[in-house]
Amino acid sequence: MSVQSMLNVQRLTKTYQAAGGRDLTVLKEVSFSLAAGASLAIVGPSGSGKTTLLGLCAGLDQPTTGTVELAGESIGALSEDARARVRNLHVGFVFQNFQLVPTLTALENVMVPVELRGQGGAEAEAEAQRLLGRVGLGERTDHYPVQLSGGEQQRVALARAFMNRPKILFCDEPTGNLDGDTAHAMVELIFGLNHEKQTTLVLVTHDLDLARRCQRILRLKGGAVVSDEELAPANHTN
Ligand code: ADP
Ligand code: MG
Repeated sequence: MSVQSMLNVQRLTKTYQAAGGRDLTVLKEVSFSLAAGASLAIVGPSGSGKTTLLGLCAGLDQPTTGTVELAGESIGALSEDARARVRNLHVGFVFQNFQLVPTLTALENVMVPVELRGQGGAEAEAEAQRLLGRVGLGERTDHYPVQLSGGEQQRVALARAFMNRPKILFCDEPTGNLDGDTAHAMVELIFGLNHEKQTTLVLVTHDLDLARRCQRILRLKGGAVVSDEELAPANHTN
């Protein structure tokens, strides 16, 4: 693998044991490599394996066969603890359903990644405040998730994803639950922060306009890659 490759996926297959003992293969021999700083959109119909692929790339789950190298580390065979360490060091992840901790304020939610590293402190808190300001929630830092709208919760999740200064950011349907204006603001934030912080970006989306802002579009169908398209530089923003 070249030193510049941030994510290198080779022949990734994921098989679930379905009811009745039948196997259900939801990802089939998926391979691609992504350079540091690049942006990739994963598109495809519902059930085509997009979320599964994202989770495997981010080390949230283990493949049945195949390999994932993330920031130069081969993560497929690592233990859960070791994968958690790699994730905490390199990865930001924005889940489709946000996954904020309901008992923590916006600020405390954004602090979770550094608290996990035992590095919470005044400096980290200032950074969390700054990130919440960057996503337009500077006045809402002590609000709990239930006091925030869906779009606001999504923005807290984005601020949290940037808290570790990730080398690579994964977003699963970042605009899926948002209305038009809020979705637009979210997209501007993702690409703005991505450009500012020089992160590599992998996003899953149904929205083809959003996908076209990436440098590359990988299309899945039935768990297999059906196209892998490089876009002309004029189309994308970073
Ligand atoms: P997408 O994100 O493209 O909608 P997913 O990756 O969520 O697709 O799911 C792909 C397929 O894998 C679906 O058919 C889904 O039902 C199945 N699947 C996902 N997770 C599991 C699981 N834990 N056990 C069994 N099947 C699963
Ligand atoms: Mg999905």
